Amino acid sequence: MDRVELVVVGAGPAGMTAALYAARGGLSTVVYDKGMPGGLIASTDRIENYPGVESISGFELAGRMRKQAESFGARFRSGELKSIRKEGSVFSMDFSGESVESKAVIFAAGSVPRKLGVDGEERLTGRGVSYCATCDGPFFRGKDIVVVGCGSSGLQEGLFLLGFVRSITYVEFLPYVTGERVLYERNKERENVSFLLNHKVVRIEGEDSVESVVVVDRRTGEEKRISVSGVFIYVGFLPASGPVAGLVERDKDGYIITDEGMATSTPGLFAAGDIRKKPLRQVVTAASDGASAAFSAIEYIKELGK
Ligand SMILES: Cc1cc2nc3c(=O)[nH]c(=O)nc-3n(C[C@H](O)[C@H](O)[C@H](O)COP(=O)(O)OP(=O)(O)OC[C@H]3O[C@@H](n4cnc5c(N)ncnc54)[C@H](O)[C@@H]3O)c2cc1C
Repeated sequence: MDRVELVVVGAGPAGMTAALYAARGGLSTVVYDKGMPGGLIASTDRIENYPGVESISGFELAGRMRKQAESFGARFRSGELKSIRKEGSVFSMDFSGESVESKAVIFAAGSVPRKLGVDGEERLTGRGVSYCATCDGPFFRGKDIVVVGCGSSGLQEGLFLLGFVRSITYVEFLPYVTGERVLYERNKERENVSFLLNHKVVRIEGEDSVESVVVVDRRTGEEKRISVSGVFIYVGFLPASGPVAGLVERDKDGYIITDEGMATSTPGLFAAGDIRKKPLRQVVTAASDGASAAFSAIEYIKELGK
């Protein structure tokens, strides 16, 4: 069994910043991720609102964060957290295939895309239904697509998709656009973009791949069929807090409740980033949480040693 001072779960911006601060502060630190390090930004086309970096691909920013954390001694490993328990002051964790013990844990597992839950969505996922423009956009060169959700994520990823597709029809449940104004304006000025506000997707149709999306006008009840080859869905996220459910206090949606030092209801277990109950989920706030969590973990371990 491997023993370290700090385990960080999740190598998104929160986890990588936590690892950077903790390793630089002298803790032996291991970061686990169930996928590729980088988290949500690794598949985000452009980040334009991280201070000091005018415009950068999410993939590149993620790579820089990892390199910086590694330069201070943080180690990255592949593994999904399956279970965690605390006995005395020691945390024991099972990560698909390996076990590790630590004095403190920073849980920064972020969130997963929310599904629409309509007919055809699951069956056609990977066959025209996608939640990741960067991963799948190039498959839709010259095609017509629907983007569901006019929050900032949907509008931003739609702009990226415009580099490939022939047209985008945005479908938004609410009667107004909720995303940033600047992103809306950039979409609106394009001739091949249209908006169906106050419309609800009721099903996605197609034999072997997506052929059409059926929507209902929420004001009139009129049903419309939009012929498209792809549907990109950006309707929010669900926190990946399941593995620590028994150890921490969560809100009704599953987001972890922390104090301003990122401490959860279990001493020594800290939470950072999108997984946390908070008003703004962005790279800059994830990084900020990661730094605070690492600072608190260092203080906590110092106290344990007294
Ligand atoms: C399409 C899109 C565009 C965006 N654009 C911007 C933008 O322009 N600017 C901005 O500031 N923010 C943007 N965001 C938001 C930003 O990406 C997030 O706020 C940020 O990535 C949150 O970081 P995080 O580290 O908390 O979580 P995440 O980035 O979600 O990382 C969590 C990591 O934890 C891992 N994980 C999950 N469960 C486990 C487990 N059980 N065991 C091991 N590992 C696990 C995941 O694989 C993942 O790598 C965008 C988000 C999306 C979806």
